[in-house]
Amino acid sequence: MKKLFLLPFIILLNINVDAQKIINRDLEIEQMVKEVSPDSLKVYIQKLVLFGTRHTLSSVTDKKRGIGAAREWVVQKFNEFAKKSNGRLSAFVDTTIIAPDGRRIDAPLNLGNAMATLKGVDPSDDRVYIISGHLDSRVSDVMNRTADAPGANDDGSGVAAVLECARIMSTHSFPATIIFVAVSGEEQSLYGSGYLAEKVKKQKWNLDAMLNNDIMGSHNSSETNIIDNTRLRVFSESFSVQDTGRAFMNIRNLGLENDGRARQLARYVKEVGERYVDNLEVVLIYRNDRFLRGGDHTPFVQRGFAAVRFTEMNENYNHQHQDVRIEKGIQYGDLPEFMDFEYLRKNTAVNLSCLANMAKAPSVPQEVKVDVKNLSNTTMLQWKASRSGKVKGYYILMRETTSPVWQKKFFTYETTLTLPYSKDNYFFAVQSVGITDNESLPVVPSVDR
Ligand SMILES: [Zn+2]
Repeated sequence: MKKLFLLPFIILLNINVDAQKIINRDLEIEQMVKEVSPDSLKVYIQKLVLFGTRHTLSSVTDKKRGIGAAREWVVQKFNEFAKKSNGRLSAFVDTTIIAPDGRRIDAPLNLGNAMATLKGVDPSDDRVYIISGHLDSRVSDVMNRTADAPGANDDGSGVAAVLECARIMSTHSFPATIIFVAVSGEEQSLYGSGYLAEKVKKQKWNLDAMLNNDIMGSHNSSETNIIDNTRLRVFSESFSVQDTGRAFMNIRNLGLENDGRARQLARYVKEVGERYVDNLEVVLIYRNDRFLRGGDHTPFVQRGFAAVRFTEMNENYNHQHQDVRIEKGIQYGDLPEFMDFEYLRKNTAVNLSCLANMAKAPSVPQEVKVDVKNLSNTTMLQWKASRSGKVKGYYILMRETTSPVWQKKFFTYETTLTLPYSKDNYFFAVQSVGITDNESLPVVPSVDR
């Protein structure tokens, strides 16, 4: 076993001590983050509102009103951005027929997700990242497909974030592939994201992470009058429903109930998002979604993928799922006038910085293991090199078992490291680090007996 002091590693930082924080920004990502524009976001949302309603069951043939015209417009925007992408961005409406379900679909439905794929430039890298928002909107009655349903925040905000990321990122190249998608059918029971998640699973895409944006552009809450545009919530499930049998026993035995794939992604979003976006705190919420609500990350989580939901800190229920009306002097409805485009800019930038950092990074280290052959007060980790990407080295992340976030980070050029900290007392994970310092998602070690 190599001794610690012989290894070329550097103790980089104590993440939980602000004074010691090192903000090391990738200049390319910093530049992209600066390009995120509140004005662009506002223009997208104003245009989306002009389709009158984007209800999933609204017309798909009307050229001006309804979900059909809206999805064609999203693809048209993607195609506009594609002109500056050197042929790497391509877009289409991915359609499927959904049969009536006796609940929220009352007639055969032509459902379409507006998708754009920014092809990765490394042919040996098959990783895929997805960012989504939902194009469909609704009013008080979920089956009402004719009334005006502006859907500025729910979920014009998510679709605008998707478009803005596509606009900026498609002029850059990444080793991995990024998919920008405005799904449909969210309000009718997550049909569009369910269709996409099933396709990803069946076709065995190497999906590394999925970011769902839904209701993330307004800063005020109903009932409490709180205004907050400095915090963004990230919802993540602890472990996947696929963690059954032996996998679940392993989680119990090792105390890994807070280290599932979605939770790791959420921690990554907090660290990287806060690295690039000033005056914004990413708040980790330890549950998959809010009470009584659903979201497009869930079909992905249910299939074992790392997927999280971004939502504003406080919600205003007068402006969600409401008929547009004035009642007792109160304006109801999801109108653009209730949006905070500067807040939406920051939340969009969190998405962009995380997508860019993951897609620029090498793929995750392989076969990460912690040695438990002997009783000892040290921790020996070993792993195999990333499958794709140019690797500079690896970070070993460490935290106390009660800490929500990683607290220490060690760097090594090797594929093994022994630390003078007991594996019994801390959690560990390993990340690949690329030549421009972008980190992969962390991998929790499995036990090597
Ligand atoms: Zn929504």
